[in-house]
Amino acid sequence: MSSDDSVLSFDTLPLAPALLSNLVDLGYTKMTDIQALALPPVLEGQDVIGKAKTGSGKTAAFGLGVLNKLEVGRFRVQALVLCPTRELADQVARELRKLARAIHNIKILTLCGGMPMGPQIGSLEHGAHIVVGTPGRIEDHVRKQRLNLSDVNMLVLDEADRMLDMGFQETLDAIVKEIPEDRQTLLFSATFPSAIESLAARVQKNPVMVEAGAAHSESSIKQHFYHVDNNEERPQAVARLLAHFSPVSTVVFCNTKRETDEAAEYLREEGYTALALHGDMEQKDRDRTLVCFSNKSASVLVATDVAARGLDIEELDMVINYHLARDSEIHVHRVGRTGRAGKSGIAASLVSEKESTKIKRLEQSLGRSLEIVELPAEKDSAPPKKPPMVTLQIDGGKKHKVRPGDIVGALTGEGGIPGDKIGKIQIFQFNSYVAVTRDQSRQALAKISKGKLKGRTYRVRVVGV
Ligand code: AMP
Repeated sequence: MSSDDSVLSFDTLPLAPALLSNLVDLGYTKMTDIQALALPPVLEGQDVIGKAKTGSGKTAAFGLGVLNKLEVGRFRVQALVLCPTRELADQVARELRKLARAIHNIKILTLCGGMPMGPQIGSLEHGAHIVVGTPGRIEDHVRKQRLNLSDVNMLVLDEADRMLDMGFQETLDAIVKEIPEDRQTLLFSATFPSAIESLAARVQKNPVMVEAGAAHSESSIKQHFYHVDNNEERPQAVARLLAHFSPVSTVVFCNTKRETDEAAEYLREEGYTALALHGDMEQKDRDRTLVCFSNKSASVLVATDVAARGLDIEELDMVINYHLARDSEIHVHRVGRTGRAGKSGIAASLVSEKESTKIKRLEQSLGRSLEIVELPAEKDSAPPKKPPMVTLQIDGGKKHKVRPGDIVGALTGEGGIPGDKIGKIQIFQFNSYVAVTRDQSRQALAKISKGKLKGRTYRVRVVGV
């Protein structure tokens, strides 16, 4: 074993001997990155934010912390692990059971939406040490006083970004309120949008932040400047760039409202799912546009700077400047919208002779000269790719007390679609939107229109983009 390997050995950690010997039996000889980074502070009892994806070994990173702290002689729910979907909750519970094999009489219970209530109520009557579940169903059991969280001293939020995407923010807050404050809270997330920061600030105390593979996750944005002869060429130029780079999500920045409409209309005629966003739109249309773009059921958003201000989208593959921005600061801000979260992004700007002063100013502010190149040649045009998701609009919202868990439950319940086919869920006053993968849209539509949410049926339709 090299010196590097011995640092990564589990027996450098203050873990119970039974857990250590079981790790040997499982063939876990070396800690993964996230385990090596997270386990020391976790075992010291600190709150930890871990940036890691499924497959990184993150379950053991929090699971060993949960199991090491647990007092098996005290038959109370001492740890709660919240996951966005049933599939993940099942996977986490399986891994926890594996890690806990050496602890006798330990009871791990999963409580997920979309599953019949009866057996869960029965299991809850028998008690458990660790509960793993999805937020909606856990909140239900807590509200009906079937699940008591007053002895929980370890809370884990797994794939927290997905839970927020699925609209579980309020549900999470309601659950956390029921857990004593002197708990340890671990939060794992693959991405860090601002909503995750504010969630962490609400539920954690002085968290230690660890990130697996931080060394090579620097964001990189590639900037391209393309020559156009005149304004008439710009819509085609955008289409050409989309065909060339084939990004999943793109924002096209325009300087005026008229341009947003023109460009979006042209792109739609070319077969792209493009939506315009500008200040003159009604709130309801604006909401729907942002919903469809942020949940990936529309692939192009054509927006003015002001309208795009509130846009908090993590995974933007490409930004196109229809015209160069009025000043360099706005340009840098636009370009910075792509390539976030350690991802590489592409920024393309269309430039005509008339914009040479702006280019000079931009060169000055970036401190380098900019090369303006010809547009990529037209490919044997394959039709534009369909966006990966489809949005369903349900005519029930906050006013009808529809919650994200109800929607997930209706979709994934008996004969339903798998939880990992569900995307963003957003609930407004009078309606709700849920994104599902394109291949599941028919089945999802049927499940919601035939099934019930909060005991009643709602009208549901696919939002046409
Ligand atoms: P996770 O990211 O938690 O879903 O874990 C991914 C897979 O890696 C699971 O199948 C674990 O059983 C396995 N695993 C986790 N930690 C280790 C380790 N230190 N050595 C070997 N396998 C591991």
